[in-house]
Amino acid sequence: MTEIVEKLYKTGDLSDSELKSLIECGDEKTAELLRKYADETRQKHYGKKVFLRGLIEVSSYCKNDCLYCGLRRSNKNAERYRLSREEILSCCETGYELGFRTFVMQGGEDSSFTDDFMCSLISEIRQKYPDCAITLSLGERSYESYKRMKDAGADRYLLRHEAACGELYSKLHPSEMSLENRKNCLKNLKELGYQTGAGFMVGAPYQTTENIIEDLRFLQELQPQMIGIGPFISHHDTEFAECENGSLYLTLRLLGIIRLMFPKVLLPATTALGTINPQGRELGLKTGCNVVMPNLSPVKVRKKYDLYDNKICTGEESAECRGCLERRVNSAGYEIVSERGDFIK
Ligand code: SAH
Repeated sequence: MTEIVEKLYKTGDLSDSELKSLIECGDEKTAELLRKYADETRQKHYGKKVFLRGLIEVSSYCKNDCLYCGLRRSNKNAERYRLSREEILSCCETGYELGFRTFVMQGGEDSSFTDDFMCSLISEIRQKYPDCAITLSLGERSYESYKRMKDAGADRYLLRHEAACGELYSKLHPSEMSLENRKNCLKNLKELGYQTGAGFMVGAPYQTTENIIEDLRFLQELQPQMIGIGPFISHHDTEFAECENGSLYLTLRLLGIIRLMFPKVLLPATTALGTINPQGRELGLKTGCNVVMPNLSPVKVRKKYDLYDNKICTGEESAECRGCLERRVNSAGYEIVSERGDFIK
């Protein structure tokens, strides 16, 4: 198996059958070699730097009904909130003082966040913090909407494709959502000049190795600047309540593979990875990740942004969350930097 890792390191690609064996390989020696090469590759391009993204969870209202997500509209037990303009600006102010140079506004698909509201907010953040990147993660919107928000000053957009295989996509989403639309949104975002992020959950219900290979092929075609992957974690109020969580080791293998297939990509060690294992994010950082996303949301809403069960970082103030992550990053042997952390061309 180590020859396959050597080949991936040297050429940045593998055949489907080689990928399949590597994705399914539980051998420790192979995992260690993959980790070593993934780390070498991230250090070649980004050194020991880890970029911070301040995550502001702007709304838990959602008009969609994704079967895996705790915010799905049919979850009647979900507690809904939406942050006001003033609250969001205050998160940015706190974040700036803590050294964040990227703000990520993420939320459910909440129609109260109209283009007018978002554009005026984005312009104000852009004007107040000219040295910061503005990232949006607000789901599927029209080309026009993406364009207006880009013109208002947004730089990046995170929209995981979730599953590149149509059959799997439709098992994870309600019938009114389509993979075609999702892919079209990603194409529009790239065309408009956003640094674009795609990705998927590892170990989602019904997901096979072949599905994961399709996800990797889709990413090769899209060439996003950011890739977000994390383990699926069940939520007690969804149809997938009884499904098994994604595995730490499979997630780490995929992070290593992604770093070698996309040497310069911005790759976060996600909160979901830290949720399934207390050392998950540190292990992610050692396996090619170069981004962490501490929570900047007001503490009073954190528990309500309930995508999956036992989500971490819901109790602490932003400063504590920042400090905790800094210690984790340092303990893994890397250093947090106070920079925008753009994709390097
Ligand atoms: N509405 C936005 C943001 C969604 S939340 C959008 O559509 O992009 C961000 C990500 O959390 C999702 O893309 C999904 O991949 C992940 N997520 C949702 N539910 C999850 C679960 N149960 N386990 C792990 N990740 C989950």
